[in-house]
Amino acid sequence: MEVAPRKSRWNKHGDRLLERHGQRVWRLGIDAGFSCPHREDGRGRGGCAFCAPEAGLAAYQHKGQEVVRGLEEQVSRAVGFTRTRYEAQSFFLYFQAYSCTNLPAADLGRIYGRAIESLETTAPGALRGMVVSTRPDCLSPEKAELLAGYAALGLEVWLELGLQSAQDKTLARINRGHDFAAFIQAARQTEGLGLRRACSALCGVRAWSGPFPQGSTRPSTPRGFPAFWRICWRSSLGMWKS
Ligand code: SF4
Repeated sequence: MEVAPRKSRWNKHGDRLLERHGQRVWRLGIDAGFSCPHREDGRGRGGCAFCAPEAGLAAYQHKGQEVVRGLEEQVSRAVGFTRTRYEAQSFFLYFQAYSCTNLPAADLGRIYGRAIESLETTAPGALRGMVVSTRPDCLSPEKAELLAGYAALGLEVWLELGLQSAQDKTLARINRGHDFAAFIQAARQTEGLGLRRACSALCGVRAWSGPFPQGSTRPSTPRGFPAFWRICWRSSLGMWKS
């Protein structure tokens, strides 16, 4: 007897990408040399309590003990690695490290453009889109328009906004340097531009009462999930459209 495949209870992002692009799409994590306004001298905020940007670097962003800094080299190593290991054919450029809109729009355009050109040279025709990760208080209408321009050219452009918690008290406790209203404002600023938007959240942080060690993202407990879904519901901004 043939057993019907079990229907997933989750609406998986990877499945939606497969539907839209006809094959799996791999994100290539890129550190394009951005900094973060929340860590820079002069603002005096010291960064989020859990900040550890280099902890998330992929294997191809390391050469032995060294971190690979060159944009073109990162792209080429990322393509080589994912092709060899996963037989990857289609890619998103994932601007991931720090706040990837933390420059004037013209400079951002030059950096995004370099990465796009580099991928087009390394893997012609394989670029499907880009994901830009940033803080909600690091956007402007010009930057949103810049991203919308890539979407207008046919790329799937995701804006990944860091939220972490919808509770202002929790945001203050983890030293996020912005409140929930700032997230809503950034999400509204990017509405109707053809961008796809996602938010990142720390699950379980509200339920936790211990000290928050610098560079730690723990704890992450299932108790945080209801809060996470509430964030999406409360914002009513079409997050996770895919
Ligand atoms: S916004 Fe991101 S990069 Fe900036 S301090 Fe917070 S975690 Fe670190």
